[in-house]
Amino acid sequence: MDKKNFLRIATLCLTVLLVLTRCARHAENSGAPEAGSPADASGFVSLAETVPDVILEIRYYSTYNFVGDRIDGYEEPCALMTREAAEALKGAAADAAEQGYRLKVYDAYRPQMAVDNFVEWAEDVDDTRMKAYFYPELDKSVLFDQGYIDAKSGHSRGSTLDLTLFDMDTGKELDMGGTFDYFGELSHPDYVGDLTEEQIENRNILRDIMVDNGFRPLDTEWWHFTLENEPYPDTYFTFPVTSESVASK
Ligand SMILES: [Zn+2]
Repeated sequence: MDKKNFLRIATLCLTVLLVLTRCARHAENSGAPEAGSPADASGFVSLAETVPDVILEIRYYSTYNFVGDRIDGYEEPCALMTREAAEALKGAAADAAEQGYRLKVYDAYRPQMAVDNFVEWAEDVDDTRMKAYFYPELDKSVLFDQGYIDAKSGHSRGSTLDLTLFDMDTGKELDMGGTFDYFGELSHPDYVGDLTEEQIENRNILRDIMVDNGFRPLDTEWWHFTLENEPYPDTYFTFPVTSESVASK
């Protein structure tokens, strides 16, 4: 073999080797979601780990919610959020503690499959099992048009949560003059109606704690807050609610 041919064959072998190595590496990674994709939970943490003094009552894991069943995607009664939102919530928990309260969280990150489950439920107008508790004033058929149910939820972006305040002295939730996930005007934070001064003040205490710590309120639900400058404003995540999603691998 002359020198020229040897070089040609050696280059060919090297190229084949490089291609094979790259293929092997790709196969190794194919189990992990692509960074930044909706299946990638690497920017998320468990609230119980990051803000250990929050109380969790994850309603969509239980059957005490407006559907009446455990919701798709809730595999454990835990709360997941983006690292940034959880860090901000630490400040809120500290401010609440100073006033004798704890944060009680009903929902945080909500996977797209759960939102799809809500849509499916809303389309089945005959299933009104939980009407007396969550939407006594409304006909189920208007839930879509009036914005109570939507095909997308800010919760799926991972920096939104639903919560109330728990009073450490009385061992009860603060009286907000309305309950979580009640579909109606009573849930608007600025609703006055027949609320007592104390109920209005309690809503204000929650709002002030959250706003002071970088969250913005929603004008239709007193319990719902989103981190300003949320880190994934356009991504609707899909991984399930379970501590395994955020376990370090
Ligand atoms: Zn919410």
